[in-house]
Amino acid sequence: MINNKNIPSKMKAVVLEAPKTLTYREIPVWPVESYNDPDMVLVKVAACGVCGSDFRYYAGENPWAQHTLGRHMDNPPNIVLGHEFTGEVVAVLSEKNSRLLGKRVAPICSKTCGTCSECAAGRTQLCPNTVHLGHGQGWGKQDFFPGAYAEYVPAWASSCFVIPENLSYEETAMMDILAVCAHVAHQGDIQPGRPVLMMGAGPAGNGIAQAAKYLGASKVVITDIADIALNLARKQGIDHVVDVRGKSFEQLLFELRAISPEGFGSVFDSIGAQESFNLGLKLLGKSGTLVNMAVHDTDMPINFLNLGSERKITTSCNFATGDYPWALSWLESGRFSVKPWLDVIKLEDVPRVFAEVDSHADQKQRFKMVIKFDGV
Ligand SMILES: [Zn+2]
Ligand SMILES: [Zn+2]
Repeated sequence: MINNKNIPSKMKAVVLEAPKTLTYREIPVWPVESYNDPDMVLVKVAACGVCGSDFRYYAGENPWAQHTLGRHMDNPPNIVLGHEFTGEVVAVLSEKNSRLLGKRVAPICSKTCGTCSECAAGRTQLCPNTVHLGHGQGWGKQDFFPGAYAEYVPAWASSCFVIPENLSYEETAMMDILAVCAHVAHQGDIQPGRPVLMMGAGPAGNGIAQAAKYLGASKVVITDIADIALNLARKQGIDHVVDVRGKSFEQLLFELRAISPEGFGSVFDSIGAQESFNLGLKLLGKSGTLVNMAVHDTDMPINFLNLGSERKITTSCNFATGDYPWALSWLESGRFSVKPWLDVIKLEDVPRVFAEVDSHADQKQRFKMVIKFDGV
């Protein structure tokens, strides 16, 4: 191992020991050399975003398996969550990666196998052999499964992107979700000159709405029930911001049809419930695409008449490797704006904050949390 700083043997981390049991404690620094991959580097974490999926792991679900493998899989104990991270490279395993030492990086949090049929076809987001940070996936048996709710995290040199000078660690900790937004936007086949409907104005919805505008949408309509998300969408200049609280299905259909009588070229549903699905499908324009971004293990009836005129339904899974540099260039150039999203917390606050969010799950008080680490 080649390092430019002293690496301690222990570090502070937040560990998901079992569903709803998060503890702030000391654990060994990751045994990077024993992972048997010379591409690996060690990153001193500067910032780590708290993803919506982290709350699903907290509740005992495994969204990665549902989206990537299309089935349920139990989580192992002792996952260190955190896959939206940035930091400084402090150790590398091979000489050829020493150029990264001391660099500020925004790494992709997963490594795909490169040899399966999905990888060969360029659909890296569907690789069943993905090794994933912060999701407990692909590591075999471990005492603790690596993620970035910890002072150090492993990463892969081949997917470490150096952070442009005009961007902070906290902003670039949003890169994972922005790459997801880029991928979802592609899945929705946004057509220049046609309107876009984004149901759900959380970070993913907000980012997709921003991307839709730059991909040529004639207008972007976004809906939500939380003041914090609605106000932020208004502040960021999304064309139509619709508060859906207390409105019936028929009222919403009427209100949204008035905004776009010809229907929407792309509809994105981040809720994935029967009612949002029905609403989205009724509002989908001819030859339009509806993307269900939240796949749940539940049957939903569908009236096929609503799919007439070449309308399409699809889902979206993580992001392909190529979406990441695309999203980073949009963040660097200011097309993606994430500074107003950020709600900074400390690592030791994570267990308390998760418990609070869990007990007020119906009233969203925070938009996008990012853990900021000292001393980087
Ligand atoms: Zn995420
Ligand atoms: Zn693969």
